[in-house]
Amino acid sequence: MADIEYRLEQKRDLKTALPGPKSQELAARREKAVAAGVASSVPVYADELDGGIIKDADGNQLIDLGSGIAVTSVGATAPKVVEKVREAVGKFTHTCFMVTPYEGYVEVAEKIASLTPGAFDKRAALFNSGSEAVENAVKIARVHTKRNAIVVFDHAYHGRTNLTLAMTSKVMPYKQGFGPFANEVYRVPMSYPFRDPEGMTGEEAAKRALTLMEKQVGVENVAAIVIEPIQGEGGFIVPAPGFLPALSQWCKDNGAVFVADEVQAGVARTGKWFSSEYEGVEPDLVTFAKGIAGGMPLSGVVGRAELVNVVHGGGLGGTYGGNPVACAAALGAIETIEDWNLADRALEIEKIIKQELGSLAESSPIVGELRGRGAMMALEFVKPRSKEPNADAAQQIAAKCLEQGVVILTCGTFGNNVRLLPPLVIDFDLLREGLRIFAKAIEAAGA
Ligand SMILES: *Cc1c(COP(=O)(O)O)cnc(C)c1O
Repeated sequence: MADIEYRLEQKRDLKTALPGPKSQELAARREKAVAAGVASSVPVYADELDGGIIKDADGNQLIDLGSGIAVTSVGATAPKVVEKVREAVGKFTHTCFMVTPYEGYVEVAEKIASLTPGAFDKRAALFNSGSEAVENAVKIARVHTKRNAIVVFDHAYHGRTNLTLAMTSKVMPYKQGFGPFANEVYRVPMSYPFRDPEGMTGEEAAKRALTLMEKQVGVENVAAIVIEPIQGEGGFIVPAPGFLPALSQWCKDNGAVFVADEVQAGVARTGKWFSSEYEGVEPDLVTFAKGIAGGMPLSGVVGRAELVNVVHGGGLGGTYGGNPVACAAALGAIETIEDWNLADRALEIEKIIKQELGSLAESSPIVGELRGRGAMMALEFVKPRSKEPNADAAQQIAAKCLEQGVVILTCGTFGNNVRLLPPLVIDFDLLREGLRIFAKAIEAAGA
């Protein structure tokens, strides 16, 4: 395993109060130019990023525990990514794969087929965003099954396009006012161990969801069950063991397509290449995006060849899908994950998070649960000694972290989770420093 190389000193360093004067200037310009609907969780403007450090416009160095929402797992300037992007951009920026194809796209498709669960023959198509990948998985499933109904779960997040908004569960801020939404999308209960009846098994939770689906949608109408193996925006919800295999088996038994939306949990984030592997599930289709290309926009859907290939020529595609520079970045990111053993590093990060926060999570009256896998962990905040969601605590704690130069994100249907998504390359001492600041903020909020 090669040592991780950093360009910026991996050190938290605050030169001004946050946001500093340059960030405030940029915020004022932004207000006059950028749509108000596009919000930022952190009012600090980035100048340079590397490893676990965000250097802002005022020269402050912040600790990054968000990776731009699980995207820059290899860092935002991983040397292999930068090198391959530079080389690619000097050759051509675009041809459109549907016009003049190129090797990078083919190579990403080959690689992703070998990295996703299941030894069967696979085919892949590449797109730009996670939403687009999910939309295309639905298209493939509908052509394959000649059925319409798409089944999704409580707390799900699948994107912001019209179809994926129908599949996303949370109204504010994602859906409010944007309807009508695509039809033939049905929502059933998720396995949410923290909030389900005590002791409910994965199999029981699956039965609850599947019975409802059979009664309200009808077995012969279900084209696909689409699920995040670990829910992201919904609160880093890890379903009870047995839940995913039961859903996957139901699809096998009933001619439906099992789609794992691995856009957030995939690409080594949880300590395996894809989080479905934890349950030994081999999805018919996998969607991927966020971590795949070291920050460049690239997404895709990959799955069983006989299923993907039912779509007629020209039925899948898009002007920019599988852009050559983004493909080069993906090849650099995949190489980086392998060279630096970042899947194992994700498991090290989980250990460190548990060491730093485990006992506090047990003892604090406002922490309901510490959960997740690998470098995808969250704390669910509750009103003292209850299970009632406590969004105020999560917001207050995230704000307090930011004041001290730690970028941390919230999530969850109830807005009451703080999620930890550090770059997998983060220096471990820097990670511990960030977690200790976070722990102090929790203690202050819970006092
Ligand atoms: C982020 C996300 C999406 C949407 O991806 P975009 O690139 O923002 O369109 C879809 N599914 C999951 C699980 C996600 O986390």
